Amino acid sequence: MDRIMMEHGSGGRATSELIGEIFAWEFSNEILNAMEDCAVVLGNKKIAVTTDSFVVEPLEFPGGDIGRLSICGTVNDLLMRGAAPKYITCGFILQEGTEIALLKRIVHSMANTAREAGVSVVAGDTKVVEGSGGMFINTAGVGFVDDGVDISAASSRAGDAVLVSGSLGDHHAAILSSRMEISNSIISDNAPLCEMTERLLKENIAVHAMRDVTRGGLATVLKELAAGSGLLFEIEEEHLPIHPQVRDFCGLLGLDPLYMGNEGKMAVIVDEKDAGRALELIRSSKYGEDAAIIGRVKCAEEQKDSGRLVLKTALGGRRVLDVLEGEGLPRIC
Ligand code: MG
Repeated sequence: MDRIMMEHGSGGRATSELIGEIFAWEFSNEILNAMEDCAVVLGNKKIAVTTDSFVVEPLEFPGGDIGRLSICGTVNDLLMRGAAPKYITCGFILQEGTEIALLKRIVHSMANTAREAGVSVVAGDTKVVEGSGGMFINTAGVGFVDDGVDISAASSRAGDAVLVSGSLGDHHAAILSSRMEISNSIISDNAPLCEMTERLLKENIAVHAMRDVTRGGLATVLKELAAGSGLLFEIEEEHLPIHPQVRDFCGLLGLDPLYMGNEGKMAVIVDEKDAGRALELIRSSKYGEDAAIIGRVKCAEEQKDSGRLVLKTALGGRRVLDVLEGEGLPRIC
């Protein structure tokens, strides 16, 4: 059989073969290999837990695939609270007709990304539904948070620096190019951000808040942080890192890179005294070479400035930014 059939979801022999030959083979570890009804894992710290579903179309795209994305998205959400990601679960919903070779590539990519991120896949599930060769993946992640680590929107302070770990809009532009069959050199930035967050914490950088820049783009993420802190966030257009080819692509289609999704970038709010050091640490980490200090957190002097995000434009204007309105591009993650 070279395609997924309904019997792969029967719970019988075809299911066991699928699990044995693809999932257990790629994700092999002591906990998973026990094949019990659930995984029992060790832990003695505060626990961070998250879940995310991945429905991206196409399943493979320039620079990545749904498998890599499903590990990165969940791992990055754990990292953003200062957690060390440890365990992942994954649920596959496969449509009848999915090519087995494609599934193998995607699961292999997931296993590689999990290794890169230092997490073990300890539980999983597969269902087969009618359809035409599509695939959805849900992952849940567990990580551990050291005592004293308190990273959240509400922890931002007036005077803090706003950093972004790299260029904006890459993933979104790559997916859109792929769907529109436009050939260019834009590739998705889907990546786990463990190295940079680990180094920031290890070097005792006063990190107040972090968010990975995903759906809705940088503007949406920073607006959420501003709203969560009640402070005024100001960013400078001329400091925003954007690859020239993404800028051109956006210009051509009338898109705003501030609202384009990434899958391997984060916004970080740090105490101003640590801003320079934080920038160096991120820039010298994997996936952080284009990091930049892009703005400041300020006291909201007037009521209307509380929770507001303002862009100082290259021409000296001020533009108030809100979260993404409307649908945006569906199925980018
Ligand atoms: Mg997030």
